Amino acid sequence: MSKQYETVIGLEVHVELATKTKIFCGCSTAFGGAPNTHTCPVCTGMPGSLPVLNKQVVEYALAVGLATNCSINQYCKFDRKNYFYPDNPQNYQISQLYLPICHDGWVEIETTAGKKKIGIHEIHMEEDAGKLIHDEWDDCSLVDYNRSGVPLIEIVSEPDMRSADEVIAYLEKLRLIIQYLGASDCKLQEGSMRADVNLSVREAGAEQFGTRTEMKNLNSFKAIARAIEGERKRQIELIEEGKKVIQETRRWDDNKESSHAMRSKEDAQDYRYFPDPDLMPVWISDEWIQRVKDRQPELRTEKLTRYQKEFQIPQYDAEILTSSKHMADIFEATVELCSKPKEVSNWLMVETMRLLKEHEQDPEEIHFSPKHLAELIKLVDAGTINRTVAKTVFEEIFANDVDPEQYVEEKGLKVVNDEGALRTEIQKIIDANPQSVEDYRNGKQKAMGFIVGQTMRAMKGKADPGLVNQIVKELMDKA
Ligand SMILES: [Zn+2]
Repeated sequence: MSKQYETVIGLEVHVELATKTKIFCGCSTAFGGAPNTHTCPVCTGMPGSLPVLNKQVVEYALAVGLATNCSINQYCKFDRKNYFYPDNPQNYQISQLYLPICHDGWVEIETTAGKKKIGIHEIHMEEDAGKLIHDEWDDCSLVDYNRSGVPLIEIVSEPDMRSADEVIAYLEKLRLIIQYLGASDCKLQEGSMRADVNLSVREAGAEQFGTRTEMKNLNSFKAIARAIEGERKRQIELIEEGKKVIQETRRWDDNKESSHAMRSKEDAQDYRYFPDPDLMPVWISDEWIQRVKDRQPELRTEKLTRYQKEFQIPQYDAEILTSSKHMADIFEATVELCSKPKEVSNWLMVETMRLLKEHEQDPEEIHFSPKHLAELIKLVDAGTINRTVAKTVFEEIFANDVDPEQYVEEKGLKVVNDEGALRTEIQKIIDANPQSVEDYRNGKQKAMGFIVGQTMRAMKGKADPGLVNQIVKELMDKA
């Protein structure tokens, strides 16, 4: 019988904080500027330049720490992590080793076996590095320091996860907490949230951990799940063949669905950490912690309960609506304007989710205004347009945020309630289809459906279906 193995996973999650300026200088953190335009002597590591800590970074780190049940190191310090790499102009990264701002927290995730707590070892503040661009055509490498000095928090979990599903649930949980706090947009694709996976396997029931590897370069939940499965298999194969797993950093290649060794894994002593002499230690008073606590917004779990109670919508709906802070904001703003929570929820859950999927977009990318969705709902409610037309108008709102009233007016999409005009149209269609009248007389109900369909098509979907049915029946009975 083959042996049973247990996978042990811990995560290091880097999150770029949503501050306007960098952690130690006044340069912009905006994504996507021309190379090296958001830079100054501090973030390009010029000799003699001095860092000054951005207070907002401490506040965001505190907010995340408090929301993940961490204890706070009220006296915390910055340390230099020394290493040479061209994207790191100072030849050291300012980080925290000895006294990180938050430690010993936890978050709760849902697993197939019920709720589970995942421990958070620590959260520390640090600066991001620049970006190297390898130009294969010109056979050279270029460096862009716009990202150098962008504030990060690194959230280090305990090795408490046992499967890819648990890892994804943990990441989702962190992402939602941080997005709700407004501390980061947490976009994996753009790199504002990045996860390194530490993984080892051991025989089921073993006390000691196996040798772990670290995997980098994971920029989607799907890539993370595939990398975990791939690495787990690789390590089990090595063990079964009697070989050793080597402690190393590996790069996952999601296209090839395989990983390769990058470098042997360093330990803390390899970096020659020492306290940064340019930065004062940070003292976080009880009052400061209290102020941050008082400002904490409503988080997802609280919204979930409130939506079901206040708006009487099912838990399933509430879960989808709150799965993105941005979508929850749109939901609440729209309900405020039209007072129809279930209707708003339906437009978001059905049509919006369908269009997002079609365009391969995230709920974070929804850009229509609550005002326009509210107006659309009012137009349907007042019977000005029917539901079929409303769907096409919504597609325009979704894509271009059009004003529905104006759009319906311009395109002539209002329901035709002019009974006289409808009668004339239907009579024409009946006259042109004598066979249908014959079939109808012989008891084929379908024949009536055919005439109704022809009428709706002739009216370009704008007729009121109830009224059309009524007139068709009346005229066919007479014919
Ligand atoms: Zn700068």
